[in-house]
Amino acid sequence: MDSKYQIIINELGPLRVKSGINLKNYFGQRFDQEVELFFMATTQTELIKVIALVRELDLDFLIIGTGTKIIFPSDFKGIIINNKTQNLKIFGVKGKVSVSGIGVEEAMVEADSGVLLSKLAMYANNQNLTGLEILETKNGTIGGSIMNDWGIESLEQVKILDKYNDIINKKINQVETEDIILSAIFKLKAKK
Ligand SMILES: Cc1cc2nc3c(=O)[nH]c(=O)nc-3n(C[C@H](O)[C@H](O)[C@H](O)COP(=O)(O)OP(=O)(O)OC[C@H]3O[C@@H](n4cnc5c(N)ncnc54)[C@H](O)[C@@H]3O)c2cc1C
Repeated sequence: MDSKYQIIINELGPLRVKSGINLKNYFGQRFDQEVELFFMATTQTELIKVIALVRELDLDFLIIGTGTKIIFPSDFKGIIINNKTQNLKIFGVKGKVSVSGIGVEEAMVEADSGVLLSKLAMYANNQNLTGLEILETKNGTIGGSIMNDWGIESLEQVKILDKYNDIINKKINQVETEDIILSAIFKLKAKK
């Protein structure tokens, strides 16, 4: 095995890095191909760690959300990183206090880039927030959508890992091809 692959396995753990697996088991028949290394990142910390490592080792990598917009290159050599980051949180709630209690008017939602669009829509709906209904029936992850230039009106900013491995916040129109999307922040209104 390539010594760089061995470093990845040592750093990320032999139980987490899979070698010689067929991608169709994860992304369906369209991806019927064996790959040398496969890693599923479940947190932002893991995603940052694996990207920083493969960049340092100068290994080819491909990040896959759900793979809906990827035509897999048949000659790919390197590591597949499946983005399964799942965190969703509410912050920055704005509202007014009245005799009937605190009325929420607006809130910010931060979603990891691996969150499914439909899951984000359901989360907002369950929190009584509006503005993401269009995502209810859409396939794919937040990260994949942003890299494919699908606009979401309420998207305020994204947190990215840039090509120097610095974590910075950007507006969507500032995102570059080398950026790795870590999370996205949405400004949503409360339902009336
Ligand atoms: C409002 C809205 C409407 C849409 N309407 C449609 C529609 O009508 N028809 C349609 O076909 N699609 C539509 N889409 C897009 C659809 O949801 C796609 O499936 C989605 O963009 C791709 O997500 P994915 O996780 O499958 O990406 P993938 O196919 O896994 O990845 C796509 C690309 O992004 C890269 N990538 C993935 N995650 C990251 C990350 N975290 N950081 C950096 N790069 C990354 C991959 O390497 C690849 O190059 C819409 C999306 C939105 C938001």
